[in-house]
Amino acid sequence: MIETQDFEIIRKSETSISEIDFANLPFGRVFSDHMLIAQYSKGSWSRPTIKPYGDINISPAMSAIHYGQSIFEGLKAFKSDNGETLVFRPDMNWERMNNSAQRLCMPKIPKEYFIDGIKQLVSLDQAWVPEDPSCSLYIRPFMFATDPFLGVKPSETYTFMIITSPVGPYYAKPLHLKVETEYTRAAMGGVGFAKAAGNYGSAMLPAKLAQDKGIDQLIWTDAKEHKYIEEAGTMNMMVVIDGKLLTAPLTSTILPGVTRDSFLTLAREAGYPVEERKVSVAELIDAQENGTLEEVFGVGTAATIAQVEKLTFQDNTYNLAPISTREISVKIGQLLLDIKKGNVNDSRGWNMTV
Ligand SMILES: *Cc1c(COP(=O)(O)O)cnc(C)c1O
Repeated sequence: MIETQDFEIIRKSETSISEIDFANLPFGRVFSDHMLIAQYSKGSWSRPTIKPYGDINISPAMSAIHYGQSIFEGLKAFKSDNGETLVFRPDMNWERMNNSAQRLCMPKIPKEYFIDGIKQLVSLDQAWVPEDPSCSLYIRPFMFATDPFLGVKPSETYTFMIITSPVGPYYAKPLHLKVETEYTRAAMGGVGFAKAAGNYGSAMLPAKLAQDKGIDQLIWTDAKEHKYIEEAGTMNMMVVIDGKLLTAPLTSTILPGVTRDSFLTLAREAGYPVEERKVSVAELIDAQENGTLEEVFGVGTAATIAQVEKLTFQDNTYNLAPISTREISVKIGQLLLDIKKGNVNDSRGWNMTV
């Protein structure tokens, strides 16, 4: 734990919170008063500074722009009924960010910068954590390479930042997903397990082509055969077949979601059979056809649970089991949300109180 005096804090002279319409928050367009920034050079990190949110100067030759050494994280803070601010499992995001950093030849972020950085920043901007139980403060830590140099090699300098954004209720309208069998999100040995910026840029065209046909998002399949289901858009994907909760095992192509891990933990504790194993598209379609495909949903920080109501594979579109009949996703999803908001006992110590 680094002490408050270890962070340089430059307060904004006047808060802009009064300009914000908390009843109509768009996702990711409104930012809190302050941000955290730290610089890495000559093998070490500078003292982190918390200062007013604002633009940053960059070199046109900045290596992150040209060669993509750029990674991020995403987590949320909630206001509990008794007014506490809770951040869900930030240690998991810190570990994941450092795994992403290692894969992209970037330096590790000290735990205090990440965890205490979130604590200090969110504490300073407490007023920005929405009171409405359906809203939250989205926290975005990120790191990028800053060498002003066009050679293709790992940068020697980096910037780590944390910005926060109050976000409104996520109206998780049930989704129509298409099994993608042409484009690939991640291949074995690649960077699919990392929250690397480039993964999202390369997924935009395939998603847009599907969206032009009225489909919401894609089910990514394995790069080699397009036979096994991997993720749903930018969420981990789960299905329930004949009472069993199934999800892809963590390999180099799967982003290890904090929601995924938490959901599996709670489902196991509740006594549901859970299998982390490959699930083929054929198994999914067979189950749908013989009536044993009970639930299909995505899990991630943004929505917690996103139900899937329709599935397109090649020329067929299937109407999946009605959402009203779904048990595991609804029960465990609600339990998870209740833990995050401090409505039920956090027996695993998942929440960090700010
Ligand atoms: C962030 C992300 C997830 C979900 O991770 P959480 O930690 O649960 O938010 C899943 N898949 C992809 C590709 C992601 O980027």
